[in-house]
Amino acid sequence: MHSYIREQMNDFLQLLEESVNMDSPSRDKPQGDRMANWYGQLFERLTGGKAVRIHNDTYGDQLRCELGNGEKQILLIGHYDTVWPLGEAERRPFTIADGKAFGPGVYDMKAGLLQAMFALHVLREWDRFPKDKRVVFLINSDEEIGSPTSRRLVEEEARQSSACFVLEPPTEPNGALKTWRKGSAHYSLTVNGVSAHAGVDHHKGVSAIEELSRQVQALHALTDYETGTTVNVGVIRGGIGANVIADYAEAEVDIRMMTTEEAKRLDQWMSTLQPTLPGARLSVTGGIRRPPMQRTEQTAQLFALARKISADELGMELEESGTGGVSDGNFAASCGVPTLDGLGARGGFAHSPGEFVTLEDIPLRTALLARLLETC
Ligand SMILES: [Zn+2]
Repeated sequence: MHSYIREQMNDFLQLLEESVNMDSPSRDKPQGDRMANWYGQLFERLTGGKAVRIHNDTYGDQLRCELGNGEKQILLIGHYDTVWPLGEAERRPFTIADGKAFGPGVYDMKAGLLQAMFALHVLREWDRFPKDKRVVFLINSDEEIGSPTSRRLVEEEARQSSACFVLEPPTEPNGALKTWRKGSAHYSLTVNGVSAHAGVDHHKGVSAIEELSRQVQALHALTDYETGTTVNVGVIRGGIGANVIADYAEAEVDIRMMTTEEAKRLDQWMSTLQPTLPGARLSVTGGIRRPPMQRTEQTAQLFALARKISADELGMELEESGTGGVSDGNFAASCGVPTLDGLGARGGFAHSPGEFVTLEDIPLRTALLARLLETC
């Protein structure tokens, strides 16, 4: 199967060039709509399935592609938005050199989207699309900014699916699939104190900065590499001058964790924070942004199937991995559907100008997805 896909690489690369050279920043609705339209038309042409644009007021329209009409729903997830601004593709257009393709969003994740399209295309061409299945391929517009408007869509489809495959890039240097991802939470912590002249009335002041510094110590102490919990206060602000006791300070906090129970425990911890200095006041906003994608027994079985296909048919040894980085796989998996992530293109330097994909792996990984869809 992968040699057949290899024969189609010219078409693949032409489409990859076209899509990479079309900017699609998360917050640009007209560009997003254009991109959604492009992928929708391509899906229908390549697979004979149906693509429906789901209207979005703020960001580009989401795209829901569907193929087949069997009972068993399989969910594919990808996003067409990139972190790059309008004009990036003109400054830094798609190029190919030394067996790699470069350009904005090529790795995260326009090559992955095309791999999914071609996997379905091959199944249709060879008349091997399984009769008992239907594939729903969601291509969303706002993943890079936390999926504010596509989360609900992902969860709705995940609840009706018996397996989910995410076309995000794998883990390098081995191209390993991801069977788990940590969850993430984000909080803003604000501290109010009492301002006073640092020379004249020092004793009358309550320093918001001192209070915040104590809170930062306590927060960072929650980090535990054994359980996988990490805390990072990534931003602090406060105060107006060295001779003024600060009556205000604030911090932004990122927390990652392995399990839903741990997420709840930490959320509880944050919501009951108490000041240590008399006269200081704390307030906390925020919460869990993406629940953990936990490795279940069913996920392990799905990975075992992927490994077997890779070894028996594609001559590649597939490894398993996980990450502290989040994706829409977190939302899908937390609905209980076994989720394999990292099925996209191999490469490197996501979110950086050096971003690339390696071309020789594309037919193999496309074939892997096609065979997974056939046999899962
Ligand atoms: Zn991505």
